Amino acid sequence: MSSRYRSKAKNNKKLVIFTSIIIVLFILLYFFIQASKSGGESGAFKQGPDLANQPVEGMQDAKVSIVEFGDYKCPSCKAWGEQIYPKLKEAYIDSGKVKFAYINVLFHGDESKLGALAGEAVWKQNPEAFWPFHKALFAEQPTDNHDGLWITPDKIEEIAGTITPAINIIQLKQDLANQSNINEVNIDEQLVLDFNVQQTPTIMINNVVVNNPFDYDTIVKIIEEQANE
Ligand code: CA
Repeated sequence: MSSRYRSKAKNNKKLVIFTSIIIVLFILLYFFIQASKSGGESGAFKQGPDLANQPVEGMQDAKVSIVEFGDYKCPSCKAWGEQIYPKLKEAYIDSGKVKFAYINVLFHGDESKLGALAGEAVWKQNPEAFWPFHKALFAEQPTDNHDGLWITPDKIEEIAGTITPAINIIQLKQDLANQSNINEVNIDEQLVLDFNVQQTPTIMINNVVVNNPFDYDTIVKIIEEQANE
């Protein structure tokens, strides 16, 4: 082999090594970007869900809205309502800085649907009865066997009977039997799809989805960012 050919072969080898290094760098960069995306505090949509005809607690014109996508059958939602929500209520909802809304998710089948229909029916009857009913329904979720059947028309009737302001039980029974509020439940299901809700609870602060709904410090940070925008 002449020296000219040897040097060409050498150059080709260099090119292959150089190209391989570039490819490896791009692969590393790709994984780095993916990792930083999933390790972030939150993801953002262009805007938050439309809250028209959704139960909203607090000052209706508050600049910051927190939306819980929740399911009455979900143990994490019950835990979130006991651990995180009271802190938010005291620090932000009661002071008028934040309004809070609840959107139904039906990840646990017929019982989720019945709970959602009951919530919507109570909201339609009397918005002031909704939040006490909503909390009482979560409170009745059994801690030991939450997968067992517990959301039944009888249980809903029993809970509704304990609520102040009073709920019209006869009306509620009719609404459940006739699925009178199925449109509202369908609207919520569409929002679950639109916002790609994969787990419950999913918490959105304005247009921002919180990665870990139990990370109170991050929730506070996002609230403050949104309030100052
Ligand atoms: Ca709804």
